[in-house]
Amino acid sequence: MLVKAAIVQCGGYQPETISSAVERLLALLDLPWTGLWGGRRILIKPNLLTDKPPECAATTHPEVVRALVRLVKHHGGLPLVADSAASPVKLAAVWERTGFAAMCAEEQVPLISLEQAGAEMFNFRGVPFSIARPVLEADFIINACKLKTHLLTVITNAVKNIYGVVPGAQKTALHKHFPDPGSLGAFLAHLYSLVRPGLTVTDAVLAMEGNGPSSGRPVSLGFLAASTDGVMLDAVVSRLLGIDPTILPFLVPPLTDDAGALAARGVLMGDVAAVQGACAGFVLPATLPRRLIPAGLVRLLQPLLWSKPEFTAACIRCGRCVAACPAPAIRLPDTGLPVLDSAACIECGCCSEVCPVAAIVIRSSRLARLAGSLCRPVRVLASFLRKGK
Ligand code: SF4
Ligand code: SF4
Repeated sequence: MLVKAAIVQCGGYQPETISSAVERLLALLDLPWTGLWGGRRILIKPNLLTDKPPECAATTHPEVVRALVRLVKHHGGLPLVADSAASPVKLAAVWERTGFAAMCAEEQVPLISLEQAGAEMFNFRGVPFSIARPVLEADFIINACKLKTHLLTVITNAVKNIYGVVPGAQKTALHKHFPDPGSLGAFLAHLYSLVRPGLTVTDAVLAMEGNGPSSGRPVSLGFLAASTDGVMLDAVVSRLLGIDPTILPFLVPPLTDDAGALAARGVLMGDVAAVQGACAGFVLPATLPRRLIPAGLVRLLQPLLWSKPEFTAACIRCGRCVAACPAPAIRLPDTGLPVLDSAACIECGCCSEVCPVAAIVIRSSRLARLAGSLCRPVRVLASFLRKGK
């Protein structure tokens, strides 16, 4: 079945610029929004990973969500905004620093903590987990995700953003059960299939490249994208970034049997050519080479091919990385920097996600760096060959 996805250029986060871009996106999708939203509870799920200001590009920009809130109201819907943050970051600080507390107060829309609103239990491969009740009770979910790189899953966009419906510290604990990209990807695919947002909107006006999802570099890609099928949207944006969607560990059953064919299954409308140009040269995470190698071989090459956290002098000894580490592989001595137990580290990147001062850098082995430098020309060649078809 053909699914629509729309991409529009968007020059900045000025309220008028964003609202006209979001209106154009929805017009391109051409759906009966009043019929879908009128009189119903519409839960908007942004990416509120951590307590950094919008210019760090770690979280969905509040102006994108403001535009969605206004459109939902315009079509007679009852919007609410809800998310949980990475453990152990305090959600109150996230709401304040990301600008969501102010925006939701101005728009008079409820801002709900998915950590404190109750939850229902589910099970995946014998591992119990919960989904926050407001998500299960919503009539329609808008997935307002941020496009970023991710050390474990290559990118985070539509499917990965849904991880936030699992409340608080459970997210860290689940990394222990699903430590490698393959098993975490399978869990994410299962979780997404339970939640199934009705609309996904990608904020890539300012995206994040390098070692995301929290400590990478903000990069201006200047676009918003949307689709009723977030799975296809992940495939589409990964293609724009020069990433083969088949390496995204969450594009697997039950979401899809053929990640490679996903992008081709939809009708892509809007400013596609202009956005393609803006995405050239997008920097992928240092862990990417490892993600390209079959799991069995990774174990064999582990001593040579690694990307691990290193603690720098910027550290303020807050202890968040210790609390966030699922291994556990970090201890904070009485003085000085945190200490890594390299053998215990599963390279999940949770520590760098929560560091408030970007004091954790991901260092890669020589072989991983070499493999990474080879990835770029291979991606450029692959994109050249695709254009030639
Ligand atoms: S040290 Fe960091 S990357 Fe390693 S397991 Fe702990 S949280 Fe994950
Ligand atoms: S490295 Fe970052 S998260 Fe860890 S103790 Fe230092 S400042 Fe806190």
